[in-house]
Amino acid sequence: AKQEQIRNFSIIAHIDHGKSTLADRILEVTGAITSREMKDQLLDSMELERERGITIKLNAVQLTYTAKDGKEYLMHLIDTPGHVDFTYEVSRSLAACEGALLVVDAAQGVEAQTLANVYLALDNDLEIIPVINKIDLPSADPERAKQEIEDVIGLPADDAVLASAKSGIGIEEILEQIVELVPAPTGDPDGPLQALIFDSHFDAYRGVMISLRVVQGTIKKGQKIRMMSTGAEYDIVELGVNTPAEEKRDMLIAGEVGWISGSIKNIQDVHVGDTVTAVDNPAPEALPGYRKMNPMVFCGLYPIDSARYNDLREALEKLQLSDSALEFEPETSQALGFGYRCGFLGLLHMEIIQERLEREFNLELLATAPSVVYHVNLTDGQQMIVDNPSKMPDPQRIQTIEEPYVKATIMSPADYIGPIMELCQKKRGDYINMDYIDNTRVRITYELPLGEIVYDFFDRLKSGTKGYASFDYELIGYKASKLVKMDIMLNGDRLDALAIIVHKDFAFDRGKVITEKLKDVIPRHQFEIPIQAALGGKIIARSTIKALRKNVLAKCYGGDISRKRKLLEKQKEGKKRMKSFGSVEVPQEAFMTVLSMD
Ligand code: GDP
Ligand code: MG
Repeated sequence: AKQEQIRNFSIIAHIDHGKSTLADRILEVTGAITSREMKDQLLDSMELERERGITIKLNAVQLTYTAKDGKEYLMHLIDTPGHVDFTYEVSRSLAACEGALLVVDAAQGVEAQTLANVYLALDNDLEIIPVINKIDLPSADPERAKQEIEDVIGLPADDAVLASAKSGIGIEEILEQIVELVPAPTGDPDGPLQALIFDSHFDAYRGVMISLRVVQGTIKKGQKIRMMSTGAEYDIVELGVNTPAEEKRDMLIAGEVGWISGSIKNIQDVHVGDTVTAVDNPAPEALPGYRKMNPMVFCGLYPIDSARYNDLREALEKLQLSDSALEFEPETSQALGFGYRCGFLGLLHMEIIQERLEREFNLELLATAPSVVYHVNLTDGQQMIVDNPSKMPDPQRIQTIEEPYVKATIMSPADYIGPIMELCQKKRGDYINMDYIDNTRVRITYELPLGEIVYDFFDRLKSGTKGYASFDYELIGYKASKLVKMDIMLNGDRLDALAIIVHKDFAFDRGKVITEKLKDVIPRHQFEIPIQAALGGKIIARSTIKALRKNVLAKCYGGDISRKRKLLEKQKEGKKRMKSFGSVEVPQEAFMTVLSMD
């Protein structure tokens, strides 16, 4: 392909504004797939993505499009996820592009993640092309959406394409604008090789598969390559592109996006963000990599079957290959045995990793309650980093505890200002300001402790605003708060995996809620089990699980066998996710009840 006829672009949008649907239509119009092969959201190939209707992993596809100027263009479309937890994936895709389609739902207008994605695109110097989508909806108001793009984002929107990804309106026009407005890649195809690794995954037969964007030079089959940060060297066995079917090629020139494989079995050799160069004529320096994303939420993951500890490690290593924001290190808990402390970008990220470990690697896991990272200033002048509440030092050694704070931006119809502010106050938020985006919509800014929003903030925001509010946040730093560790004791023993960090003013209420909830979640045993919440040595709340008297089956009056069997099965099912702590069996649910607010 001629370099001046290559166009590399991403699609960015707030979640549900239609990125994946638009990607589908673009694949169809360019003939990459026939409508017969088409299934909805084709690029969302992960089973989990299709089920949840969200994009988690980025995907790159090569297309050809014959434009009105009669020339054939080679395009690389990189789909990106829209959820706040996956910003990292978005910034990776954008680094491989020159342009971005900014999709805005004509009925919703500009949302919090629309803005967040625009900032990422601007950081990467991309040409941004606004597209107003869903104009087929009766509630669509394209003029208002345009006005918001101009007022809130500051992009000219007069020429924005009015599209319906669903009905296939405006797709050609979008492709023409890409040809016209997105700059062709530069970079000398004859220069020393520099290719940016933007993704990788593990293939059971071919080893590590690397997705890359060739920035300079040409990468060829059979070539000996070197990873610039690790120094590892490999021969390229195969290379190619996805159209979206995998197609092998002999070479990829500067500007192209594709994949390579080299029988790479050592996962540690490949780092997303690293530069691939050629061993004969290497580039003098690496491309700027990515900003390392620091995990914000940590939890312990323990295999139910402790014999599968090594399988869990292998599975985590494989997932980390395509998800460099995931961190893990070994951890032991008195209660749960051997497991891993894992770090995530947010709760959704945590949930997805957990589900993938269970589905793709057949692991049964027990997850402890998530925690943020605290900075603990000790009386001896040292600072400790604590990502596990049970590791909190003795109160006598603590001077202050600092917790992470975020600046949260909430966009919503003005009707919901009340509930939004109430929620933010309840979550210990500091009001910063509020402004009107237009006559009916507002933007509210709060500073909030991350520890308060990672749990159920988003769900509550959604339910409090009938789904209309959108939300984005960025970490702004650490602030000292009146925080204390709360221990939970079962049958008189401290259960380390249930310890949490709480604000002093809320400790009594939380203690009460948690001990009551645990009472309902932990099954009855042959003996009575006291549950206590304690701050230091002081018990602040308690409840009691009564001893089991009758067989559960006794509850089934009458002789309905199938009902009895069902009950037994249900009992067995519940058992699977239990760990015994001393003589008490604790189910998975118990570890999440410590997050309950009321
Ligand atoms: P993404 O989260 O941005 O990838 O959004 P999706 O492509 O998954 O679309 C979200 C929802 O909006 C799906 O139910 C789509 O069918 C729907 N949708 C996408 N584009 C259009 C459109 O142009 N018109 C209408 N009416 N619905 C659309
Ligand atoms: Mg999607």
